Amino acid sequence: MKLCVIEGDGIGHEVVPAAVQVLKQVIPDLDVHSAEAGWDTFQSKGSALPDETIATAKDCKAVLFGACSSPSYPVEGYSSPIVSLRRKMETYANLRPTRYLPVPTAREGVDLVVVRENTEDLYIGDEHTEADGDTGTATKRITRYATERITHMAFKLAQVEQRERVTIVHKGNVLPQTDGLFRRVAYEVSHHYKHIETDELLVDTAAYWMVKEPTRFDIVVTPNLYGDILSDMAAAWGGGLGLAPALNLGDEVAIAEPVHGSAPDIAGKGIANPTAIILSAAMLVRHHWKMTDLANQIEDAVYTTLSDGDYTADLMDGNSMSTQRFTDEICSKLA
Ligand code: ATP
Repeated sequence: MKLCVIEGDGIGHEVVPAAVQVLKQVIPDLDVHSAEAGWDTFQSKGSALPDETIATAKDCKAVLFGACSSPSYPVEGYSSPIVSLRRKMETYANLRPTRYLPVPTAREGVDLVVVRENTEDLYIGDEHTEADGDTGTATKRITRYATERITHMAFKLAQVEQRERVTIVHKGNVLPQTDGLFRRVAYEVSHHYKHIETDELLVDTAAYWMVKEPTRFDIVVTPNLYGDILSDMAAAWGGGLGLAPALNLGDEVAIAEPVHGSAPDIAGKGIANPTAIILSAAMLVRHHWKMTDLANQIEDAVYTTLSDGDYTADLMDGNSMSTQRFTDEICSKLA
């Protein structure tokens, strides 16, 4: 079993080794291949996603990605390596679960998954400034093909996880040619899964309910931009960014990648919370390698560690554990 490991930038250098330690504990013969990407790589090699990294990722078919820093100003030749990698590996779905974890910052009863379309919408990169210099235009693309496959993914996930409802989130009343198409096609697909309830919400209403009553949600399927925003909102109910996992999934390829970024404010201090990336790795084990028992073991070890009140600094003041000690604690429960 091969895994391409990309630490990236910032706390990626701390949380990725933690997740690899956990994976090695449950899969001792895991074949780990390190590769480079990110802002530091761009500065040293002139490319944020070198060709050899793409080749290693494609060969392994499974990637564990830490985080990358992107400059807040345009840099000639630089583009986000994770966005490119998702595209090159054709991981068309981004699964972002928010489940209650036993920490003071989480909301009890929340158990939802945002299934975010990962290849189109406003993220296709077709954006330009008009000649007057004062008008920016971006293209939003929604296709039947991408909507069908993401909706099938959402309903199949509902089947596997024995969930009751899929909510289609869109803005079809204002955008009938794009979101209206998404809504129509998603409903067509839902007819193949008659035992699972289907409903819909406009994205603004979904945002309201996500804040007011997050327990009403089960699985949400939605275009790229709304999925990006709603899943970050939901992550707050899961206890914070240090705890929020994600998995980019395609047909026989996957990239596990936490929701958080490179956290430059705490990078290099050894205090980052590795929970998000460890749970992302567990998703890889569950959905890509289909090793359900091992995924359950990892998730249970994380849950028990947090239940014991063992926290990293993002979750408590004083007496917190370092990234390494927290990871060792999880591994001790897997032994
Ligand atoms: P980037 O530019 O890479 O997106 P950022 O700081 O803008 O970085 P995040 O990395 O998501 O965005 O961090 C947002 C905040 O959450 C920061 O204060 C950071 O320290 C905190 N944070 C994010 N991830 C973790 C983590 N794993 N453990 C502890 N704190 C975290």
